[in-house]
Amino acid sequence: MNKACPICLDTFKNPYSIGCSHIFCKGCIIKWLDNNNTCPVCRQNFIGNFPIPMTLITSKYKTRKITEYWRGFKTYVKIHQMMDVYYNEIHGTENSCIYMNDIFKYIYENRWIFNSNRIVYNGFGGDRFKKVLKDKLKEFSKHPNFKESKIWQYKFRDILK
Ligand SMILES: [Zn+2]
Ligand SMILES: [Zn+2]
Repeated sequence: MNKACPICLDTFKNPYSIGCSHIFCKGCIIKWLDNNNTCPVCRQNFIGNFPIPMTLITSKYKTRKITEYWRGFKTYVKIHQMMDVYYNEIHGTENSCIYMNDIFKYIYENRWIFNSNRIVYNGFGGDRFKKVLKDKLKEFSKHPNFKESKIWQYKFRDILK
């Protein structure tokens, strides 16, 4: 992994990712995002601000913890992307239930992110994300066409309690 910020070319101060595999100083990327909404290196769209623990950058070895962290990171980013598509393109259309079902399915298949080690959990605001999941399930349980919502509420019961 690169040890220097691609914007200031200095060592990271407060490392952040915006959804791709590139890392920047928080100050550098926030300034860049004033006038842009893509990564300055790979041009991927901005997904969100994700703090990256310094230990992941400075560690010389690829440990299980680091692998797990990046796996968790990619899963969270994917969920964010799916939610963005939902709100920008699907919400209010006749496909909203089908799409939401796909999102719940993806989250359920990757539910290990909720019980993973603290570094994954805290790095991406797990509690905040749980709240979003809870609110969505509540919202969709009132939807007359979304019969699966009861099943999801049941399946997610241990994660959300
Ligand atoms: Zn920088
Ligand atoms: Zn990038």
